[in-house]
Order: sequence, then structure tokens, then C-alpha cells
Amino acid sequence: MTRLIIASNRLPVKIDKNEDEMQITPSAGGLATGLKSYHKANNSVWIGWPGIIPESDNEARVVTSLLQQEQCLPVFLDEELIANYYDGFSNATLWPLFHYFTEFAEFKEKYWKAYRKVNELFAQAIIDSAGENDQVWVHDYQLLLVPQILREKRPDLTIGFFLHIPFPSYEIIRILPWRKEIIEGLLGADLIGFHTYDYARHFISSVKRLLGHDVEFSQIKLEHRKVFVDVFPMGIDYKKFESLASEIQSKSIKDRSPVHQDIDRFLMSTPNRKLILSIDRLDYTKGIPQRLKAFRLFLRKYPEYIERVSLIMLTVPSRTDVEQYQNLKNEVDVLVGSINGEFGRLNWNPVIYFYRSMPLENLIELYSSADVALLTPLRDGMNLVAKEYVASKVKQKGVLVLSEMAGASKELGEAIAVNPNNIADTADAIYRALTMDHEEGSKAMRAMQKRIRRYDIYKWANEFITSLSGTVDRQSDYHARKVSLPIKNKIFKDFSKADKRVIFLDYDGTLQRFYDNPQAAGPDPELFTILDNLSNVENNCLVLVSGRDRETFNNWFGDRNYTLIAEHGAWIKKTGREWKERKPINSEWKGNILPILESYVDRTPGSFIEEKTYSLVWHYRKADIELGALRALELLHDMSNMLYNQDLEILEGKKVIEIKVSGINKGIAASEFLHENPADFSMAIGDDWTDEFLFKELPESAHTIKVGTENSVAKYYLTNYREVRNFITEIVSGKNR
Ligand code: UDP
Repeated sequence: MTRLIIASNRLPVKIDKNEDEMQITPSAGGLATGLKSYHKANNSVWIGWPGIIPESDNEARVVTSLLQQEQCLPVFLDEELIANYYDGFSNATLWPLFHYFTEFAEFKEKYWKAYRKVNELFAQAIIDSAGENDQVWVHDYQLLLVPQILREKRPDLTIGFFLHIPFPSYEIIRILPWRKEIIEGLLGADLIGFHTYDYARHFISSVKRLLGHDVEFSQIKLEHRKVFVDVFPMGIDYKKFESLASEIQSKSIKDRSPVHQDIDRFLMSTPNRKLILSIDRLDYTKGIPQRLKAFRLFLRKYPEYIERVSLIMLTVPSRTDVEQYQNLKNEVDVLVGSINGEFGRLNWNPVIYFYRSMPLENLIELYSSADVALLTPLRDGMNLVAKEYVASKVKQKGVLVLSEMAGASKELGEAIAVNPNNIADTADAIYRALTMDHEEGSKAMRAMQKRIRRYDIYKWANEFITSLSGTVDRQSDYHARKVSLPIKNKIFKDFSKADKRVIFLDYDGTLQRFYDNPQAAGPDPELFTILDNLSNVENNCLVLVSGRDRETFNNWFGDRNYTLIAEHGAWIKKTGREWKERKPINSEWKGNILPILESYVDRTPGSFIEEKTYSLVWHYRKADIELGALRALELLHDMSNMLYNQDLEILEGKKVIEIKVSGINKGIAASEFLHENPADFSMAIGDDWTDEFLFKELPESAHTIKVGTENSVAKYYLTNYREVRNFITEIVSGKNR
């Protein structure tokens, strides 16, 4: 039975040291709640930093054993590591960068080194407690390198990763000196989850641009496996907020908490008084100064609300020893003072400002009493406060004003959406919220509640784990057909006992890697040795089958002892003979097609045209990856309209589109060859879509091998050209033994 191992920077429990005594308290955070049932089941373990630096070995042992009772394992970090990994790379490099505050991002080598080190410590702790085939779920931006470190050391593990903050546009991530390492770190996972589709597509675009991997829908194709990317918007413990809010509201006024009684008094002291609420950590991503300015403008523009409405702003202290946070605190203090100074009355203040945290009970009292929640982050991965406010509105009496830069805005479409940088618009949104007709407000609230009640924190965790388990099956078709030792032995045996053998090998991507410039991909000495050895085995016939033009192929292999089939089967050159065309040449069609392809070259920098006897090829490997793909779609569309009735067809290869005379493909050419040269062993290896013709046309007894992870009709898979070269070498040396 597989177990789940969870890893996050902080554990779901808190350890406090009172005098000499250690105390452990479970935290009620969303993540801990959602994963509770998994965490308690099947000896699962949660690995993280306990938030305490033990002063002695004995203290470390006490902490470890306390945590053990909660199925938690500590990763102890010293002060220097915390300063550089946590305050440094996590919060002074990644946090600002991923929230688009590029001017705050610090790029320091010592931060990076500590980050790598801590990620290794986490990975090692996971490895130490992971059984075979266990599942691992890694959380958030502090541990981006963990999936890759795990993958290298323990390929048997199923690894999931969830990012709780935004993933920024490629234009931002490219600034980071360690951008490649970060993306590669994440690609160690089988499944990578994000809160919104925008974050997922930014990630995919960065993967394509920085590492050049192919992506099909939301699957990233690596050499050995696929990485699945999906969207799981994190929810809250809806029922908990709903039932606590109902309970609080049903209490008679005298039984309410002191905070709640204060709120009641405030609301009742003036007829029709209203309360606007905002709750967030004091962080520069939360747009607190902009919000205050919008509220000030609102009061200036709509003075009838003076003494009738207040903004309760609960800001929770956060990262207080970092300079930007101290500056922000000063800025907020000054703004609050100036607004209260400008509009305040003896018994009324426009802004009621708290700089502290509050227990859950008080939060819910605030949520349920507030007429409007004004949540205006400049960037926010999700913003759970917005969902908590909605869940607490059991009587649907309240309006949500929400920044469109918060992940939650994707699900809470009925809120009044604002761009928090647009102060005037936000001020008007406050007015609209306060004057919204009750019917309209409660309809919006009900719709939002319906959505987030269903997709709560339990569902979120379940969906992720189910999807993570599913990746194992989705990888398995490829793994089952991978050329393993028994498959290899069977092919070797058939090879040895055959009297006559024909071996068809594709060239690009099969025997050689891809280059930006196709002419640079010529054979190297190692390849010649391998191919010569293969073709020199008695009764072997080696056939290279390629889409390459005849001249290039002739330059590379014309003097060799192999049969060459070029241009997808249009030309054939048997050993020691001249080139022969397999179909009469007619080039008239090229005059119509060439100008179209040229217009694509003009509009797609980096792309170019190659002319072959029977075809014209548009190459876009060097073009911008997304523009290239877009233009390829356009070209396919243009061509499919044009080629009708012209005896031409389109082939889509890897970063190439080829328009060619129809009735010519590798499969027909190969089966004709086999017909003329019968063999009792035939084998074909190829990597491309065009090689599928080859696999399909060969007799059932043929050994067909696909290079790469894409779906294929081939019987078996090899991973890359290196594996193909080794495989051929092994066959030959087996035969010579
Ligand atoms: N919160 C809290 N005590 C407070 C204020 C807020 O426990 O005094 C909680 C709040 O209920 C919410 C979380 O802190 O669950 C804030 O999450 P959010 O996604 O809004 O912002 P983050 O701080 O993660 O950026």
C-alpha cells in the first residue's frame, strides 16, 4: 500500500517553548485541514521546518518525539540557513519576483546556495522515510527544487507539487539568474498544480521557452516521461465557516464576545451605519496603500458617507525584520493618520486600524458583520480571505469587492471586480457596493457560495491526490513498452537466428539529435562506426530511411555500404548503385506553393524553406516557439484549402511542415523494398510522425521501435538517439560474440 508523504516549509503544528517546557499545538490552517484525512491515514508523514532552533541535541530529540505523535518529521535548520534560504531566497528573491515586484527581488549567490542546500535537506528527509512507490506531495515556493532531487535519487516515487503563489509570466521569470534550475527542479514532479489557468499557462510557456520541451495540451513531454500540469483552485473549510457564522449570529447580543459587542455598538450608534472590512498580512503585494487612497477618494467624492461608514482594516504583522515591510508599515501608518486626521470626528474615525492578528472567532464576527469586504491585492496567488468572507455570509447580506489580480477572482466572478491600481475606479466600486440593491447582492452572494461550497478544501486535496495517482497509469503505457531486458533479449535472439535481415533506421532524432540548423546534424565518427558495424554483419541489409533531401544524404552516406531512401521514399539508392526516383518528377506545383511559404518566412523570423525534389519544407525550429506553432497552424489551414485535388499532401513533422507529392511515404517505400528483398528478420526505428507509416506498413512480425514518449503504433519504445545507438551496438556485439 502506498503512503503519502507531505512536505512543506512549515509543519501543520506549532511548537512553543515556555521557559523550559515545549508545547505542541496543531494549527488550523487550510492546508492542514484539507490534508487531515490523508495525514492521519496509513502512517503518512508530514515533513517540514518546526519553526524552532533547538539549543541542544536533547532539545532536538524532545521536539522530534513531540512531532512524532502528530506524524510529523522535522527538518532542522540553523540561523544562517534560515536567513539565507527563508528570509533570503524564498522571501527576498522568489516572493517579490513571482508577485511581479521585480524591483524588490534580490539576486544573491549566498541565498541561492542556501536554498539549494535546504531543498537537498528536505529531499533527503523525504527519501529517508519513503518506502517503495510511495506518493510525495511537495508544497510551495520554498521547495521548488525538491521534485527534481527526488526524481534523480528515487525514480520509483510518484511526485506531486502544488504552488500556492502566482507563477509569473516568462518575461518575469527570465530575469532570474537561476531560472533554468528552478524550472528543471519543478519538472521532477509527475503532476504540478496551480491555483489558476493563468499561472499554469505561464509555467508552460516558460518551460517551452527556456528548455524547449514539447507540450501537448497540458502535458510536458520530457525524454523519459511526461509531466502533467493542471489547475486546482484551493478552497476553504466551507462548512466550518458557515456553521461558526450561524452560531455567532444566533447568539443574543449580551452573550456575544467583547469584540462583537463593540462592532454592534458601532453599527447601532448611528442609523444606517455601514462597515467595510479588509483583512490581510501587511505585505506589499496586498495593495494596502492603494486601498487607503481609494477609500480617501471615496470619502472626498461622496461626503454623505462621512460618519456613516468606516473601514476596519486588520493587518497582520509579517516578515517584520525585512526593510520593505518596515517601509510599508510606515507608509500605512502615515496614510491611516492622514485620513483619520482629514475626516475624523470626535466620536467617529473613518479607518479603524489593527496591526495584529485575531483569533478565528473574531475574524468570523468581522466577516459576518461587515457590509462590504474590500480586498484589493496587487497580486495574490489565491486570497482565501475572500472565500472565507463569502462562506460566513449565511444570510447573504454583504458585497465583495475583489481585485482582479487575486487568484480567487477567477472563481468569484459575481464580486465587484476592480483593478487595484485604478484608485478612482476602486473608489466608485466602494460606492457601488454600499448602494447595491439587496436582491442583487444576495443573488451574487448565493452564486459564489454555491461554487465554493462544492469545491472546498477537502475536495481540493482529494482532486489533487486522485489526479496524482492517475499519472501513474498515464505513464504506464510508455513504461510497459519500453525496451526492457527481456524485450531486448527477444529481439537479439530473433536477430541471431535469422538468415536474412533488413533494418530500417530513420536519421534525425533517431540516430542523431536535433540541431537548430539541420545541416549541422551530420553523422559523427561514432555513428559511422556503429552503422558500419551493423551493415557489415553477414546477411544484414541496413536501410536509412529519411525525409532528408537526396543531395545531403548522398554527401553523408553515398560511399557507404547502406541502402538510402531519401525524401520520405521519393528516392532510393541501393548499395553501390545510382539514385533512382520512385515516381516521375513534376515540379510545376512548386511555383504556386513557394510564394505562400515565402510569406510565412517573412512573417516568422527564424524560419526558412528547404526545397527537395518532391517537396517544399517550411522549418520553424529556430522561430519563437509560440509564434512558430501559431504560424504552423495557419499554414496548415491555408494549405488544406489549397491542396484539394492537386495530388499533393501535407506532412507535419517535428517543427517542420512539408508539402509533398502524394503517394510517397516511408512506409510504401520500405514495404516495396522488403518485397524485392525478402527477409526473415525486419526491424524499424524512428522518432517522427512520418515514421508511423513505416511502422504500419511493415509485416506483423517486424520489430518496430518508437524513439520518444508520444503515442505510437510501434511495439516498443526507446528514449532517445543515445539509447538507439547503444541498442544497435549491443545487437552487433551480441552477434559477434
Ligand atoms: N488570518 C488569521 N488571523 C488573522 C488574519 C487572517 O488566521 O488575524 C487567516 C485568514 O483567515 C486566512 C489567512 O490568514 O485564512 C490568509 O490567507 P490569504 O490567502 O488571504 O493570504 P496569505 O496570507 O496567504 O497571503
